[in-house]
Amino acid sequence: MKAFMTRRKSIFVAASAALALSLSACGGGTMGSTEDPTVADAPTFAAGTTMEKLSSAGTVKIGTKFDQPLFGQVGLDGKPVGFDVEMGKLIAAKLGIAADKIEWSETVSANREEFIKQGQVDLVIATYTINDKRKAEVSFAGPYYEAGQALMVNSDNDSIKTPEDVKGKKVCSVTGSTPAATIVDKYGAELVPAATYSACLEPLRNKQVEAITTDNVILAGLVDKEPEAFKLASDETFTKEPYGIGLKKDDTEFRNWINDQLESFQEDGSYKTAWENTAGTVIKTVPDLPALDRY
Ligand code: GLU
Repeated sequence: MKAFMTRRKSIFVAASAALALSLSACGGGTMGSTEDPTVADAPTFAAGTTMEKLSSAGTVKIGTKFDQPLFGQVGLDGKPVGFDVEMGKLIAAKLGIAADKIEWSETVSANREEFIKQGQVDLVIATYTINDKRKAEVSFAGPYYEAGQALMVNSDNDSIKTPEDVKGKKVCSVTGSTPAATIVDKYGAELVPAATYSACLEPLRNKQVEAITTDNVILAGLVDKEPEAFKLASDETFTKEPYGIGLKKDDTEFRNWINDQLESFQEDGSYKTAWENTAGTVIKTVPDLPALDRY
């Protein structure tokens, strides 16, 4: 546990430092075009497993964000791009499913558990924090990344630096997200709820709210798009948001198998490449795969 915590901490420090560096020099990073991963040739799986079912169906349904630069965003061609999307393509490839056979759907923060429970998706890879409340409804592989909550403000706002500074103030965040709950329950902000983070941008610009709160890496992507308008209130984060891959509750074989694949992506360099081609265009320090939560 101690080693786990220490490692988590060092990842945060590295990520914060990277954010500071890249944002101060920022000018609008563009995610490079990514090459689709090599697809496993006729992999075999034990009969009755989810891996076998998906592999023989030749398709997998994945829920991701459609409006979050760096992690999951639909481009002009209608295809999602980002680090979460790359994780999905890598997993699909191990099932023998090519990237163009993945069925993507938009999951927003509030509907991820339902989409998994109702079978609208097989997996959710969507900046999705692993926590006990969610574990009561779905299962999680990972974490494959560790983010932390932060605040974004208008670039001319120097009065908000820490979460204590938004007490009693209007802050936009997304319904069903962990940062929305934290900013109200722990810091006493007045939540202005939205369905997605992009829907918080105009209220902030128009000063209907004083800040937007969510994970630092989501905010970094939004700031990178509009560096003149917005900035991070601080490079510090005030929660830990370990990102997991959501799947049907108690599908332990599938969860263990995905965890094994995540480890292989770290070992063979595909995790690093996925980062560099997506989030790494803005957040320069390449993270290591965090210690997995193999519960
Ligand atoms: N990671 C947080 C969550 O899962 C915030 C990002 C999001 O809403 O997707 O709630």
